[in-house]
Amino acid sequence: MKCPSCHIGIKLDVKGRSVFALKTSIVNGKEGIELVYGLCPECGDFIATINRGSYRFIDEEEGEITEIKQSVIIFPTITSQCVSEEVPKIYRDMFNEAASVINISPKSSAALNRRLLQTLLRDVYHVKHGNLANEIKEFCENPSVSQPLKDEVDAIRHIGNFAAHPNKYMTTGEIVNVEPHEAEWLLEIIEHIFEECFINFAKDQERRNNLNKKLNDLGKPPLN
Ligand SMILES: [Zn+2]
Repeated sequence: MKCPSCHIGIKLDVKGRSVFALKTSIVNGKEGIELVYGLCPECGDFIATINRGSYRFIDEEEGEITEIKQSVIIFPTITSQCVSEEVPKIYRDMFNEAASVINISPKSSAALNRRLLQTLLRDVYHVKHGNLANEIKEFCENPSVSQPLKDEVDAIRHIGNFAAHPNKYMTTGEIVNVEPHEAEWLLEIIEHIFEECFINFAKDQERRNNLNKKLNDLGKPPLN
């Protein structure tokens, strides 16, 4: 899991667990719920999760959850992402909205981030409006984009199992199934785009301004 506080991928340091058996259903067999809580080994923050899955008796009184089918972080409730001020507010807000629902609804989070990705490709990289798959292809042909970022963005088409779900990328904002970890991966990719197109750009501008100031002090013409 990813810690909602420090955003590092962690294995929860479990401090307590309660398991409850649910009614047996014909479709899913014996199911159960477990409440697991503990501490993040990186930042020490408290995290509580609810897992639902298959239930197996250990002895007459106690049982355990064997196959987890659904896992929700119930505390802390909102993933607060710290997005740099260099990123324009409109994109920051979209990103934070996608991050805040990731634990409750990965599908909604992925849909919001696919829309944000498309907006960024159109606004910042000026790709021709089409479906997201074609827009990603055009983005990957842009010589000003770094190869690692191209690879990551191009991977979205593969993560999303695009071949099996062609409609997924015809229109964005649509609630469609997500592959395991697709929503988390999308958040990471968007963070990388922010870094490359806004944060690094702002740093380069600052360096250039400082250099021009020095050149100016020496009575030399500035860099273009
Ligand atoms: Zn943490």
